[in-house]
Amino acid sequence: LTLNQLEEARRALDAPLFADLAGDANVSFEFFPPKTEKMNETLWEAVRSLEPLAPRFVSVTYGAGGSTRERTHATVARIVRETSVPAAAHLTCVDASRDEIDEVAREYWAAGVRHIVALRGDPSVAGSAFVAHPQGYASAADLVTGLKKIAPFEISVAAYPETHPEAISSASDLDNLKRKIDAGADRAITQFFFSPEAFFRFRDRARAVGITADIVPGILPVSSVAQTRKIAGVCGTAIPPWMDRLFEGLDAHPGARQLVAATVAAELCRKLYAGGVRDFHFYTLNRAELSYAICHLLGIRPHKQAQEQAA
Ligand code: FAD
Repeated sequence: LTLNQLEEARRALDAPLFADLAGDANVSFEFFPPKTEKMNETLWEAVRSLEPLAPRFVSVTYGAGGSTRERTHATVARIVRETSVPAAAHLTCVDASRDEIDEVAREYWAAGVRHIVALRGDPSVAGSAFVAHPQGYASAADLVTGLKKIAPFEISVAAYPETHPEAISSASDLDNLKRKIDAGADRAITQFFFSPEAFFRFRDRARAVGITADIVPGILPVSSVAQTRKIAGVCGTAIPPWMDRLFEGLDAHPGARQLVAATVAAELCRKLYAGGVRDFHFYTLNRAELSYAICHLLGIRPHKQAQEQAA
């Protein structure tokens, strides 16, 4: 047995029962900007359901090539105006000059947004290689440097426990994460993954190269393996063989599928918690139920209810 394997075995044995979780975890939720009025209603139902859990922040994604620029801005601005939750706006470097991106960032600052998730982004044409705009930011690290010159934003960046698919090597990808943190990012949020060991190994390697900022696992509660496989293919996340087996035969049973989905994601969170993780970022896909259920299992209760119980 290697030391790593022993450590992993210890973490698994130490994993507390859900009933024993102290409720000391912090969560954040990610949404995407809605395209239609119906989708807008669904998003706001989700925001309203998750708001009482007092997330650290909620974030809103930015579509490929800035395609959702106005919708992302409108959604983030409404969260700032109408909720008590700090809102973060995702921003990418794709197909825009530095001046254009800087202008978007200034608009966010003026609208009261203090947190940016700074990303390079993917090309608007799926599958093509990223080419920086001639007057643009070439990478997320560049963008972080630029944003810090505009205003003292809180900044989150992306990290990849299973290595970004375009990276020359896992070591060079980790160097890139270090550049982003050294440029001023406050935390890294990971791409979704299904192996807690992959996360722990990544976190250990990050610490070993001197990255001290928080590395927050991104949790995708899977309710459709086919859909997840599509996204995972693009971002390099491995889908474990047991995933298909767990969801087998559930196509016509959406309720059962949701229960299995919550169990799988909650188990992942429980193992991460056992390994010392206290911050979790949920890719909600604009639906509250699964994320809410997992937070509940992690011991997180609506803010008011928690205050009443303590009184
Ligand atoms: P970077 O950190 O710039 O890295 C991109 C690649 O280039 C990596 O392989 C890196 O290793 C390599 N690289 C960078 N600089 C160097 C260098 N100097 N030398 C060698 N290699 C280098 N996409 C969207 O379009 N909109 C979103 O809202 C969005 N939100 C996301 C949120 C999270 C939490 C995550 C994890 C991803 C998100 N993405 C989003 C996807 C992201 O844009 C893609 O994964 C993109 O391909 C890389 O973005 P990045 O910020 O990690 O890029």
